[in-house]
Amino acid sequence: MTIPYGRQNIDENDIQAVVDVLRSDYLTQGPVVGRFEEALARQCQAGYAVAVNSATSALHIACLALGLGPGDWLWTSPITFVASANCGLYCGAQVDFVDIDPYSFNLCPQTLERKLVSAEKAGRLPKIIVPVHLCGHPCDMATLGALSQRFGFKIIEDASHAIGAIYQGEPVGSCRYSDITVFSFHPVKIITTGEGGAALTNQAELADRMTRLRSHGITRDPSKMEGAFEGPWYYQQTELGFNYRMTDLQAALGLTQLGRLNTFITRRRFLAHSYSRLLKDIPLTLPLDDPGSSWHIYCVQIHGEDSRRDIVEHMQKCGIGVNVHYIPVYLQPYYRRLGFSPGYCPFAEKYYQRALTLPLYPGLNEIQQKEVARQLCNKLKKH
Ligand SMILES: *Cc1c(COP(=O)(O)O)cnc(C)c1O
Repeated sequence: MTIPYGRQNIDENDIQAVVDVLRSDYLTQGPVVGRFEEALARQCQAGYAVAVNSATSALHIACLALGLGPGDWLWTSPITFVASANCGLYCGAQVDFVDIDPYSFNLCPQTLERKLVSAEKAGRLPKIIVPVHLCGHPCDMATLGALSQRFGFKIIEDASHAIGAIYQGEPVGSCRYSDITVFSFHPVKIITTGEGGAALTNQAELADRMTRLRSHGITRDPSKMEGAFEGPWYYQQTELGFNYRMTDLQAALGLTQLGRLNTFITRRRFLAHSYSRLLKDIPLTLPLDDPGSSWHIYCVQIHGEDSRRDIVEHMQKCGIGVNVHYIPVYLQPYYRRLGFSPGYCPFAEKYYQRALTLPLYPGLNEIQQKEVARQLCNKLKKH
C-alpha cells in the first residue's frame, strides 16, 4: 500500500533511546520499565501503571486481578477487537455482548441497563464490563460508573484506541469511573513500543496483583510472602502467573513516544478535521466530532446504495489501505460455536455492514488525504 491505514511514527530520539538501552545492563524488564510506568501514571492522572507485553495480556491480568473465573460473566461491546472478549474466556468465564449505540457506536448504556435488569432477575449479573472507546471517542463513563454502583459490577476500560483522549476534562486512564484502564502500544495505535500494553488503576491491591501476575505470580517482597524469608536469593510463587513482561527496550521507546503524545493527538485531530471538510459533500456519514477524541481511526459509514466491497477493492487497487473496524466479535466462527448467531446485536451488525476506515496516522500528508477523498468520491459518484 502506498498509503497504509495506520503507521507508527519513529524519530531519531526514539531510535537513540532504544540504542541506549542496548548498551546498558538490562534488556528485559529493568529500570526503564519503572520509569515508563511512572510517566504513564502521571500522564493519565492514575495512581499506578503496570506495563506488559500487549493490551491482550493487560486485559487478561486485569480480569484475573478482579477475580473473574468460572461461573462469572464478562460483557463487552460486539464492535471491538476480539481481545476485549477473549480475556473473559481465558479466565474460564462466560462472555456476552451489549449492542452499540447507533450514534456513538460505543456500547449503549441504555441497552446495558435493560440487560442488567433482566440479568438481575435471572441471577446472572456480570462481574466485569469492558467498555471500548471506539476510534478514541470516550464512552459515556459517568453513566456506566453509576450502573456499576447500582448493579455491583467492575469496569475495565479497553482504551487501546484512546491514550491521549479526554473525558470530562480528565485524561482517559484516570480510572475515575472504572477499576482498571488498558492501553495498547501496537504499532498502529497512538503510541508504540513494538508490542506492548499497560493496565492503569488507582487501587494499590489491583496494581500489586497485576504486577505479580505479569511475572509468574512470583514476589521478592518479604512482606508479601507466606512463612519465613530465607535470604537474598529467595522468592515465592504465591499464585499462578505468566511471563507478560515488557522489556526495557520497549519501555525506552514508550517513554520517548509518550513525550510526543500531545503532538500526535493534535496532528490526528487536524487530519480528522481535514477529512471531514474534504468529504462533506460525498454521500457518507462522517464520524461525530468529539472534541475529546484521540482519533485512533477515522471511520465513515457508507450509504445503503454503495457496495462496501467494491469500494474497498477499488481503494486497495489505488494503493490506499482502507480497512473495516470491526466485524462483530460474536459473528466469528469461534463465538458462533459458543452459541451466538446473526441478529443478536442488530445495531452492531448494521454498523459493520457500512463501516469503512480511512488511513489516519501522524505522517499522512494533505496531498495523500486529498487522494483518498478523490478516489472515494470517484467510486461513490458512479452510483
Ligand atoms: C489493538 C487492540 C487490542 C489488542 O492490543 P494488543 O496490544 O495487540 O494486544 C485490544 N482491544 C482493542 C480495542 C484494540 O484495538
